[in-house]
Amino acid sequence: MKRRTAGKLMGLGALGGWLPKQMGVDQEKIGIALVGLGNYATRQLAPALQLTQYCQLTGIVSGTPSKVKDWQGKYGIEDVHCYTYENFEDIAADDKIDVVYIVLPNFMHAEYTIRALEMGKHVICEKPMGLDADECRKMLAAQTASGKKLQIGYRLYHEPHHKRMHELGVALHWGPLKVMESSLGFRMANPASWRMDPSKGGGGAIMDLGVYCIQAARRMANQLPQKVSAQGFNTDPGLFKGLFEHVSFQLSFPNGAVSNSTTSFNAYVDRFHAACERGWLQMQPSFNAGQQVVLTTSEELEPIEGPGPFQQVAQMDAFARNIMDDTEVIASGEEGLIDLQIIDAIKRSIEEERMIEISY
Ligand code: NDP
Repeated sequence: MKRRTAGKLMGLGALGGWLPKQMGVDQEKIGIALVGLGNYATRQLAPALQLTQYCQLTGIVSGTPSKVKDWQGKYGIEDVHCYTYENFEDIAADDKIDVVYIVLPNFMHAEYTIRALEMGKHVICEKPMGLDADECRKMLAAQTASGKKLQIGYRLYHEPHHKRMHELGVALHWGPLKVMESSLGFRMANPASWRMDPSKGGGGAIMDLGVYCIQAARRMANQLPQKVSAQGFNTDPGLFKGLFEHVSFQLSFPNGAVSNSTTSFNAYVDRFHAACERGWLQMQPSFNAGQQVVLTTSEELEPIEGPGPFQQVAQMDAFARNIMDDTEVIASGEEGLIDLQIIDAIKRSIEEERMIEISY
């Protein structure tokens, strides 16, 4: 059965939702095209796609012919589904591609997301959603106009330990939340990388890693931070040109909780800690894609089954189900916008050397 036929059947109520394979249906999967065959696409997303239940890699977009050849050999993608940035719009007519997954440097996220939505495709856009909140708003406007779905590549919204953290936070399991520490950093000493170019990365570690620290804190607090105070540090201006080596920031929440974070391009740190009135939880490692999250708590809780080798499997399958069932996306563009609104305020706080009230 073709997907479009199944879509009609969904309206029949009793069958509801996507028809499962077990019912003897030849289920068609959601076809995904990866745009930008860099590290993340190569090492994480393509292998993760092989393990998904509802997705398949059906197309690629690249400016590097040698990569295209390698990928075709490895994943059996036909010539007709291989695109360049020049003929990107031809994807519009490619029925095998339902979702365009933007895995490009940050400064290209908004442009390619908007172009893909305008082509009538669903989109997954990698983090950070855009270079600032203004770009995110334009992306959301394009999504609304298109009627298509948009997911931000927030794999941790679908990671079991982070989901448990969110549930415990929502339930006030240990009483009121008091203090959080939420930090992520690694050594990014390659001056040639687009991540080190403010016009391409958007401003170093805070752009690359800030969303993780922010979203863990606000998902534990189950509310949005009101105010931020931030500081930028740079011990090597010759290497970190026009961006900060470390950015520290403190968020305060309406419920009285505070969160302290450092993002760094020159130190390895990967940890989230939440202290509540009657207990605490910690995840260390917490955020990195290549490592398993380790959750410890002040009391023994029911063990959690890990996500397998790739956190992106659950993220992409969830999006496929959103498309199949026409349900709401959890890691939505609205979530991406909130994080950029907070990052914009962090940048302003550093610049103006004062506490900033965050506007949403
Ligand atoms: P890479 O630099 O490794 O890859 C980016 C790819 O984009 C390049 O290899 C290239 O692919 C393509 N590209 C097109 N134009 C340019 C350009 N002007 N400059 C550089 N590259 C260009 O980056 P990553 O794969 O590490 O990151 C890509 C995105 O994924 C980023 O937004 C990043 O934040 C995000 N990411 C998300 C992670 C997560 O856990 N969710 C983890 C890591 C990254 P080609 O040669 O095929 O054209």
